Amino acid sequence: MSEKSKYNFKCLEQKCTTKACHIREHVTVTLGDLGRWTTQGYLMNILLGVSLKMPTSEDDGIVLEMARKPLEEEPESTCCIFYNEKANGCEIRYSRPISCRTYPLEFNGEKYYLSSKDCPGVGQGEVSKEALQEARSVAEQEYRERVETDTALPAIYSVIMTELIKQSAEAMKKRAKEEKTETEDSVSQESENQPSDSKGNDAE
Ligand code: SF4
Repeated sequence: MSEKSKYNFKCLEQKCTTKACHIREHVTVTLGDLGRWTTQGYLMNILLGVSLKMPTSEDDGIVLEMARKPLEEEPESTCCIFYNEKANGCEIRYSRPISCRTYPLEFNGEKYYLSSKDCPGVGQGEVSKEALQEARSVAEQEYRERVETDTALPAIYSVIMTELIKQSAEAMKKRAKEEKTETEDSVSQESENQPSDSKGNDAE
């Protein structure tokens, strides 16, 4: 029989009363999530619900997270775009981001901690040592993916933006060249159409 741990947790799923997981301010998405969705063949379906947030101050970074929508019952509050209010559940439960899989247990590189006091699943169920080990391992993976995403995302964004700027500059150069050729063709056409006198001189 497996030993019990001190961490008691059981997701209440549809019976959850706080929606704490779905209404938390940022539901982060990692590059690992994008990779898993690609492998599962769901990327293009889920990507519509992912937003890329640009920094609004020098202290901010570029962030990938789930888009949000107003809660029908409390329109002044928002929730994750994939939260189904009527069913009180996640529409992409089996492909949800790793930040949802680890919630509310998190790892900060040194220790494990509870990221929310509002999750009513905390204290609800006995967790075996094996289950705790598994929960910690997901929290560690989420931490590694979060750090990797925070580091790599600005670089990936810069590479894509540089390529787009390059392509746009080349398209503008090509268009300018085409316009110049069109102008030259039209000037030469006009000059060919000028009436000339019997000696071949152009009429004034
Ligand atoms: S992806 Fe699913 S589990 Fe995660 S916050 Fe959104 S609705 Fe909740």
